[in-house]
Amino acid sequence: MAAYEYETHVYDAIVVGAGGAGLRATLGLAEQGLKTACISKVFPTRSHTVAAQGGIAASLGNMGPDSWQWHMYDTVKGSDWLGDTDAMEYLAREAPKAVYELEHYGVPFSRTEEGNIYQRPFGGHTTEFGEGPPVQRTCAAADRTGHAILHTLYGQSLKQKAEFYIEYFATDLIMSEDGQCQGVIAWKLDDGTMHVFSAKTTVLATGGYGRAYFSATSAHTCTGDGGGMVARQGLPLQDMEFVQFHPTGIYGAGCLITEGARGEGGYLTNSEGERFMERYAPTYKDLASRDVVSRCMTMEIREGRGVGANADHIHLHLNHLPPETLDLRLPGISESARIFAGVDLTKEPIPVLPTVHYNMGGIPTNYWGEVLNPTKDNPDAVVPGLMAVGEAGCASVHGANRLGSNSLIDLVVFGRAAAIKAGEVVDRNSANPTLNAASIDYAFDRFDGLRHADGTTGTAELRLEMQKAMQEDAAVFRTDKTLAEGVKKMEAIADKMDDIKVTDRSLVWNSDLMETLELTNLMPNALATIVAAEARKESRGAHAHEDYPDRDDKKWRVHSLAVVDGAKTKLSTRPVHVDPLTSEKEGGIDMKKIAPKARVY
Ligand SMILES: Cc1cc2nc3c(=O)[nH]c(=O)nc-3n(C[C@H](O)[C@H](O)[C@H](O)COP(=O)(O)OP(=O)(O)OC[C@H]3O[C@@H](n4cnc5c(N)ncnc54)[C@H](O)[C@@H]3O)c2cc1C
Repeated sequence: MAAYEYETHVYDAIVVGAGGAGLRATLGLAEQGLKTACISKVFPTRSHTVAAQGGIAASLGNMGPDSWQWHMYDTVKGSDWLGDTDAMEYLAREAPKAVYELEHYGVPFSRTEEGNIYQRPFGGHTTEFGEGPPVQRTCAAADRTGHAILHTLYGQSLKQKAEFYIEYFATDLIMSEDGQCQGVIAWKLDDGTMHVFSAKTTVLATGGYGRAYFSATSAHTCTGDGGGMVARQGLPLQDMEFVQFHPTGIYGAGCLITEGARGEGGYLTNSEGERFMERYAPTYKDLASRDVVSRCMTMEIREGRGVGANADHIHLHLNHLPPETLDLRLPGISESARIFAGVDLTKEPIPVLPTVHYNMGGIPTNYWGEVLNPTKDNPDAVVPGLMAVGEAGCASVHGANRLGSNSLIDLVVFGRAAAIKAGEVVDRNSANPTLNAASIDYAFDRFDGLRHADGTTGTAELRLEMQKAMQEDAAVFRTDKTLAEGVKKMEAIADKMDDIKVTDRSLVWNSDLMETLELTNLMPNALATIVAAEARKESRGAHAHEDYPDRDDKKWRVHSLAVVDGAKTKLSTRPVHVDPLTSEKEGGIDMKKIAPKARVY
């Protein structure tokens, strides 16, 4: 008998998450006439996607020549050759279509004089397969692009009669004995009731896990809940060691200053007033890719050329730009700089520091969003009934490092792809499968155990310990020593989950319990990150290992897989997909163009 009474809801498709990825999937599923529900722990338009500023990449060519092949090349290079080639091709090819769809749905993009979608330069986006000047590829609605997209997709989803379960917290997946996903369990936060959602397909779109770190640009809701749910079913997480630090988080506050600021002409200086990026990346300078800029900033600080009383940060200048440009193109960050740094950016530089921003790793999927559970015989074996999209997933298009503005496009391209695939796979006329009672019992027992947890360590206390350990030991620069120490620390911290204390036993608006459930999700994500980082003896993309400064394609051009069970993590690998979807003859990319080489900007 389950420990709680519950209401059962039956759908063709359930989407967990109402950010850009979840809403695009929801909309696509509902458009095809599938009975679709979307569950979200926050009101849809409060999802972290709302904070995306800079824009969404697509080779529209509105501001000069561009092509999807150039976009694909930049993505391959950005990923440091760890992305799956088929998925990266699909992304770059489908991107223009996905953006025009957004335009037609009503996203209020900024405009050029001619009335086309405005596009700005962004780091790592180039012309001529990296041989030409930077390209203007990032489509923007001022510096509030995510906000514009999220509101539009929510409106469109309602129009298509998708049903929303808002402020429902999904706790666990329901899995059949033979490993098929049958739906999810959710707790309704405002009245404490319990809900079982039965679905023929379940799409996880729960976002990233930035909050595993102490300083992050992501919302407090970014706790990797999808990854946690998957880990609890013994399924692997992929490429978790790759965590992106954004070069320009506001010093102290952690809030983001978009890369669009450098796209519009902003630049970084050290304590000597030097534009140091010219030294490290002579061609693309401040618009080199994020991992490169973050590392250079960290190097400047470590060599004593940081700014401020403690020489521990860097300056970002926009004060040379015309105030009208700032007003028109970057109004949001003008406000953030004033509120969070006390800076008038028309007059002074903004103090900035590399800050955790994005998780390249996540739940492994193919480019249709189907979740993978690799077996010995089939590295691409699919988990029936389960999909993952957006930052929660790992398709993998970002490989070891994501280019700016490539996440928003990932959300809509793969949200859409998952809906298309589900439309093919889901049999509208069949009955939903009988739910596995043991799986439901497990979820309620776990919930009840946490609700009554009576150990000695408070959730906030343990969370802080985890965040500090990750910030210290799984940072921009990594060494054998810091990583080994980090793994030890994190395993000890994860062990303390058994000693957690929840003080509030109620079921209505119990934020103590919700944060504890979130911590049970952050923990496997954090563990997988540091254990996989310790194992990877090379430097690639965001994983900069001081003891192994070079990329080692022979040994390490493989995806890492981590299965986390309590405080234990088991690692294995999965081959990278190196073949594209179409050959050069069919209009695809010239394979020689994307052959691995050193990554310089
Ligand atoms: C400040 C900031 C600026 C950015 N700017 C850009 C940019 O300009 N361009 C770009 O390409 N990328 C940008 N990014 C990255 C990009 O915005 C994110 O990667 C992306 O928005 C993630 O979208 P998502 O749909 O995967 O998840 P999110 O938008 O994070 O949404 C997650 C959803 O899942 C729901 N959820 C989570 N757990 C549960 C649960 N247990 N039960 C029920 N619901 C749950 C939440 O309620 C939410 O609706 C930025 C990121 C940040 C933090």
